Amino acid sequence: MFEGLRDKLSNAFKLLSGKGKITEKNIEEAIQIVKTSLLAADVNYKVVKEFVENVKKRALGEEVLKSLTPDQMFIKIVRDELIKLLGEKEPFRLVHHPSYVMMVGLQGTGKTTSAAKIANYLKKQGKHPILVAADTYRPAAIDQLETLGKKIGVPVITGDRKNALKIVEEAIKTVKDSGYDVVILDTAGRLHIDDEMMEELEKIKEMVNPDEILLTVDAMAGQDAVNSAKVFNERLNITGFVITKLDGDSRGGVILTIRYITGKPVKFVGVGEKIDDFDEFYPDRIANRILG
Ligand code: GDP
Repeated sequence: MFEGLRDKLSNAFKLLSGKGKITEKNIEEAIQIVKTSLLAADVNYKVVKEFVENVKKRALGEEVLKSLTPDQMFIKIVRDELIKLLGEKEPFRLVHHPSYVMMVGLQGTGKTTSAAKIANYLKKQGKHPILVAADTYRPAAIDQLETLGKKIGVPVITGDRKNALKIVEEAIKTVKDSGYDVVILDTAGRLHIDDEMMEELEKIKEMVNPDEILLTVDAMAGQDAVNSAKVFNERLNITGFVITKLDGDSRGGVILTIRYITGKPVKFVGVGEKIDDFDEFYPDRIANRILG
């Protein structure tokens, strides 16, 4: 995870280590390496610009020049700024009874897998989740969710396999006055954003009044993924992201950019194909991983 970015950044830190006295020029050089590392990691240009300005302000101030361990001081500044960029941890907010969680996202981003991962996460906390297979666009998604549901011991509502809105209607009836407290809806994606998909999602949102609308975003899809996240957010006013496939992401550009560009928090991360390869989002842990 993040090995490409980590290797590049380490060159900046090496530049400042083992030196008796640090000059402004040394710091400028280190900052330049930080800048090119972030750009190579596919972090949005505007984000990089602001990040570098913030690091510069602090590093060229007294903090690094006067420090006895300038490299450690510089790493601390970069770490603080990375955490700021990643954004504060925000809670997974379930208020209604039952609560609805709508999973949305483009095909292949890991929406169905993440729906099951969240159900499993909630079950472990003693909640009683139920899954709803409303991805009628990708037929295999329904069977996939049923299989995952069986594996984790969470029931799956499938209903009419052709009509997503009917499935949701049926789910609403089933869970009313039942013991289930969280209803997780797997919805239909597409390879690209289209109006038909968005309209269906808007209708479902109106039907269930979800507490959370989580967009799954593939970390490896780069700035394209960030751009489509922006469109999803504008249409659906999502509540947060599940960044998937972080395990295969050597660059980190998506997770370092998405909050800044959309203003919405990352709530969970997917770190592998298995059900338990899933975690809440902790900005400090991500920053530590990036810095190694
Ligand atoms: P959907 O079309 O968005 O519902 O995508 P799926 O849930 O079917 O996931 C697409 C592929 O990505 C599957 O092969 C999943 O096993 C895989 N996948 C999902 N999440 C992760 C993850 O966090 N890490 C890795 N390595 N693979 C993932």
